[in-house]
Amino acid sequence: MDKRILMLGNEAMAHGLLENGCRVAASYPGTPASEILSALARLRTEHGIAMHAEWAVNEKVAFEIAYTGSMTGLRTAVSMKQVGLNVASDPLMSAAYTGVKGGFLIISADDPGPYSSQTEQDSRLLAMMAKVPVLDPSTPAHARELIAAGYEISEIFEIPVMLRPTTRVCHACQDVSPREIPPFLREADFRKSPTRWAATPAFRYELHRRLNVKLAAIAGWPRTAPFRANPDAAGPRAVVASGVAAAHAREILSESGLWDRIPLYHVVQPYPLHSDFVFHLLNAYEEVLVLEETTGVIEMQLLDRRRVRGKLSGAVPEAGELLPEIVEGVLAKFAGIDGETSDAQVPERGGRRPTLCAGCSHRSSFYAIKKAAPEGIYPSDIGCYTLGLNLGGVDTVLCMGAAVSQAAGFYQAYRLAGKSVDIVATIGDSTFYHAGIPPLIDAVVQGARFVLVILDNSTTAMTGFQPTPATGKGAAGEPTGAVDMEALVRACGVGFCKVGVPSRLPEFIGLLKEAIAYSHEKGPAVVIAREPCVMDRSRADRLPRPGKVTITDDCDGCRYCTTQFECPALLYDEEGERVSIDGILCTGCGVCLHVCPLDAIRKAPPEGTSP
Ligand code: SF4
Ligand code: SF4
Repeated sequence: MDKRILMLGNEAMAHGLLENGCRVAASYPGTPASEILSALARLRTEHGIAMHAEWAVNEKVAFEIAYTGSMTGLRTAVSMKQVGLNVASDPLMSAAYTGVKGGFLIISADDPGPYSSQTEQDSRLLAMMAKVPVLDPSTPAHARELIAAGYEISEIFEIPVMLRPTTRVCHACQDVSPREIPPFLREADFRKSPTRWAATPAFRYELHRRLNVKLAAIAGWPRTAPFRANPDAAGPRAVVASGVAAAHAREILSESGLWDRIPLYHVVQPYPLHSDFVFHLLNAYEEVLVLEETTGVIEMQLLDRRRVRGKLSGAVPEAGELLPEIVEGVLAKFAGIDGETSDAQVPERGGRRPTLCAGCSHRSSFYAIKKAAPEGIYPSDIGCYTLGLNLGGVDTVLCMGAAVSQAAGFYQAYRLAGKSVDIVATIGDSTFYHAGIPPLIDAVVQGARFVLVILDNSTTAMTGFQPTPATGKGAAGEPTGAVDMEALVRACGVGFCKVGVPSRLPEFIGLLKEAIAYSHEKGPAVVIAREPCVMDRSRADRLPRPGKVTITDDCDGCRYCTTQFECPALLYDEEGERVSIDGILCTGCGVCLHVCPLDAIRKAPPEGTSP
């Protein structure tokens, strides 16, 4: 019997990539896709495979590196979350035209729900727009299998292929039997062809025409044709499903006694949808229900709207994850079964609201910003520090790098009215490298006046502690080059760039005030708030901590500390009407010592002594 290993979906995909000869892989971290590249880098080291695996500075760069590898004939891959595909959309649109040599997979992980994203967008729509085929896995094992099919299509038709797992596929665990990782069989061999690789508009027209021919052929390729999950079922109505919704539909139909009454078609390749399948479906059934996440991509390609039910017809919710209970309700209605489950509603989320960790230095930064610029405007960015909105330290969040351009936008808008406001923007270190540098250059050139606080914890904390360009370590911890952040900021033309430690609160507030004063006089000022992430156990250079704290009888229960500073280790006791410390959560950072207006938070006496 095959050896079976329980794998996370992202690990299963990493295995699939290596088993199929992937030799260049690049990514930018983003949940739910982050573990794909981490697992690849680990497996590369464990198996001694000659391959390049890197955390790139952003998704566009990652795409361009992996795509170029495929131009030399190697099999390559880029992975990212769906929002990252927006960043990489520029090369994506062109890559479909110029095509590939070695197989090239774009893994874009969608987040129906959304659980950790700004949008619920459907990568399959960008695949349609770019005219690249897309494969939609329903389980971790399926995702791994589709990698082989994806590389095959990519090489036969010389076209990039997208694999679109969703959060449930990326983060589910399934037992998978790993296959042998083949030896390195290909050498890079770039064949010059300027009319293709450097095509001017006249050649692009011809490339577009050829791309359409390829897509028509892929729409008939047998290996990715939809298949019948229940070949013995017969009836006037059929269900068409893809991705995780197909796995739910299979289970619900068989458990509800509908398995023999409603034919179920599993679509593996939602775009281009197989042309014979479309013809068959609309001829064989009176009604068709389409179950897919997140947008009606399959549904849009079924042009006879009178018989098709789905998101566009209102039969399936247009937003949110298609959870089993939702699919159950939709199927019951479609089958004409009355019952309690027939109302399709996306459930409300419950639970505690997300907050920054106890002892997180970002909390100190936001608190200091509010003290230094109480009437200020606070643009912010994408990262765990977005949670600074609970503390009143974040007013806007748009997309990666927009904190800097929005700060400039606020300045320019107020300048027109002759007004001067304090503008203090925040951005994480990794996000700054990703997309914060060009708008900072623009701000210098345009003379925008604001303070940019780079929250530098020297890691990409939210997605699992991937390195940043300043870390000096690669995807598997190997030494790499490193960028000097202060030198980079100064090279952008910024005249004020100083480093501060946020948990040294009074000092840090003073530094922010100095930066604000400078910004009003001269132009953008940068403060680098440098302190290791409290959760990053790999850091040896942790700051000395003052030790545990305690609450004295001076506490009058005003709740200032729990509402304005909101450390999860500070607990309000409703009965006692005062605050206490959760000794398990408290990291002893000591920042709250500076927060209580009554000086009721004090350093705890050493253990064994009485207070
Ligand atoms: S510890 Fe201080 S800030 Fe917190 S509730 Fe008591 S008095 Fe108020
Ligand atoms: S010392 Fe204060 S701010 Fe730091 S973790 Fe403990 S309770 Fe929170």
